[in-house]
Amino acid sequence: MTATRPMTVRMQKWLSIPDEQGCIRWSGPHNKNGYGTVRDDMGRTTQAHLAVYRLASGAEIPRGFEVDHVCGIRDCVALDHLRLLTRQQNAEHRTSLEARNTSGYPGVTFHKATRKWRAQGKRLGKCITIGHFSNRWDAYQAWVAWARDNKPYVSPKMLNLPKRGDE
Ligand SMILES: [Zn+2]
Repeated sequence: MTATRPMTVRMQKWLSIPDEQGCIRWSGPHNKNGYGTVRDDMGRTTQAHLAVYRLASGAEIPRGFEVDHVCGIRDCVALDHLRLLTRQQNAEHRTSLEARNTSGYPGVTFHKATRKWRAQGKRLGKCITIGHFSNRWDAYQAWVAWARDNKPYVSPKMLNLPKRGDE
């Protein structure tokens, strides 16, 4: 059996040179969700960005919190691209649409009764109707305006989606 070197030493060879947006991509193993992984000094597999965060802060991640990638790149381990969010904030910060989304825009669904596109927001677990619109782009713009005021954690990507062209 070979002696395992400390995690901090093993991690160094898996750090890449920062790219144009400052992401340090993990070149070591990845899990099926695309996060970098590393074995800690107890032999447990942990996500690389979490290991980096713990090492930098010198503490465990507080209960109910998650480490979020500001850049949206899952295997990025750049410390300044990581931030602590509550689970709720992290869910709001998602950078892709939910699987059940059918409009192509966040917060926008087709409302059968009025035959219009409805923009909806969610606050503290409650749905809020922002308005009904004859096309989904206008509904999305209304959602964006609402989200800017009410959802500081929504990712910039979700606020700047391109027009689909079939509105
Ligand atoms: Zn990054």
